[in-house]
Amino acid sequence: MRKKIVAGNWKMNKTFNEAEDLLFDIADLLKNNRPADVEILVCPPAIYLELSADIAHENGFSCGAQNLSQHEAGAFTGEISAAMIASTGAKYVIVGHSERRTYFGEDDVLLAAKVSQALKHELVPVYCCGEVLAEREAEKHFTVVGEQIQKALFHLTAEEFSRVVIAYEPVWAIGTGRTASPAQAQEMHAFIRKVLADKFGQAAAEETTILYGGSCNAANAAELFANPDVDGGLIGGASLKAEDFVKIASSF
Ligand code: PEP
Repeated sequence: MRKKIVAGNWKMNKTFNEAEDLLFDIADLLKNNRPADVEILVCPPAIYLELSADIAHENGFSCGAQNLSQHEAGAFTGEISAAMIASTGAKYVIVGHSERRTYFGEDDVLLAAKVSQALKHELVPVYCCGEVLAEREAEKHFTVVGEQIQKALFHLTAEEFSRVVIAYEPVWAIGTGRTASPAQAQEMHAFIRKVLADKFGQAAAEETTILYGGSCNAANAAELFANPDVDGGLIGGASLKAEDFVKIASSF
């Protein structure tokens, strides 16, 4: 059975003390309210990865980075390698978040290299895809998402692909308070699973965890997660409050 995951993307938020408080608050809440069969993942700013991985592992949740370099090592000032991330104890890395695509010019060719680099160092890439509003309005959302998947993931072997998590994040829903309806989310997740089945086979597609992201919160998570092809969420704003985040993780 495929894994359910609720992941928090903290983006560029929290000072060191605030990050530590949030981690311990999540740990405390999970002591009394641990959802069964759901992996809980926090993705803090990279500077807190070691701290976060330590607290996460002591308290039964997981830690991941928000980005990685496509390079192995060397003269790339300011960059963080997959090996560095793995050496902190982090297990996951978000790849291709729409903010990386929009503000840092990351395209699918670069993201294909980042996915491979993550897998090389035994990190689980959480590969983000999703259309912008104009693409949905022009009814191009299936084409756009299909191409994002094909260009960044179809070079993988079956074994490599079996370690990938996908997050469908319609860009028009990220940080906007506007959420895809449960039907829109289900429709796209089923489409993604079909694209994966055509390339990697039905069994592999059935085993792939596909998360929804985009203004998912404590009030709407349950109806989104109730869909058969929605295996959890990638949560931005609502992951910055421990109560909300743990409530979302308990929404299956
Ligand atoms: C995100 O950044 O991945 C995200 C889904 O953000 P938000 O939940 O704030 O829309």
